[in-house]
Amino acid sequence: LQHKVEHQQALNVVGQMAASIAHEIRNPLTSLKGFTELLKLNADEESSMYLSVIDSELQRMEQILSELLVLSKPTSMKVELLELNNIVKQVIEFMLPDALMKNIMIQYISPSTQVYIGGNENRLKQVFMNLIKNAMESMNNGGTITVEMTADCAIAELQIKDEGVGMDSATLQNLFQPFYTTKSAGTGLGLAFVKKVIEEHEGVIGVSSELQKGTCFHLQFPIYSFNQVDTMDVSTKDSAYLV
Ligand code: ADP
Ligand code: MG
Repeated sequence: LQHKVEHQQALNVVGQMAASIAHEIRNPLTSLKGFTELLKLNADEESSMYLSVIDSELQRMEQILSELLVLSKPTSMKVELLELNNIVKQVIEFMLPDALMKNIMIQYISPSTQVYIGGNENRLKQVFMNLIKNAMESMNNGGTITVEMTADCAIAELQIKDEGVGMDSATLQNLFQPFYTTKSAGTGLGLAFVKKVIEEHEGVIGVSSELQKGTCFHLQFPIYSFNQVDTMDVSTKDSAYLV
């Protein structure tokens, strides 16, 4: 037991360090973004090209930092009443241009009703984005990603299905571990972030996959019911440090 406690304490220290480093890097990053915007004002064509690369790399850094921050410490999030179809559609629209460039179609099958859940819009969008991005990265020869939502009076269910390379059993066992990646330029933070955020929403996530056939992620969220309290504070629970 003593050993276990020490191990947990060591993890907490690493988690706190990651959180404070991520936090410190955020400020200079913000100023880099600001000055990049200023440079764009008088940029010629060639400089504009370089600046847009700088822009998207800065955005990537920001995304990694926000995932690290959510993973490395207990966070509180603002919870609002959200219509889930809207959120999913917005994310798909945002990802579609990149998908089409890779010859990938994203198909959305929606339920006939609106689906309300209590949640944090930005975090949920980042969850769906990570899952669709992974699906896209698994499909090098194009194909279709099918996103399907169904709902009854208690549970909203979302499936994200790809026609990609699938996963072997080692990957299936580790995919939610922070920093687990099979990609040369991956961070391994995406699915760890996804799982944590879904659990913060009282949801569950599962996966099935077959090599060379494809992968399907299944998500479930409790539907908002009107006798439920409007806000929930997740800062008080689940204070484990994940690193
Ligand atoms: P990253 O994308 O940076 O590698 P993730 O946490 O998003 O990190 O994913 C972890 C690993 O899970 C990936 O490296 C990949 O091996 C596997 N994976 C996730 N989603 C899929 C998918 N849709 N198809 C095949 N493999 C996947
Ligand atoms: Mg990923």
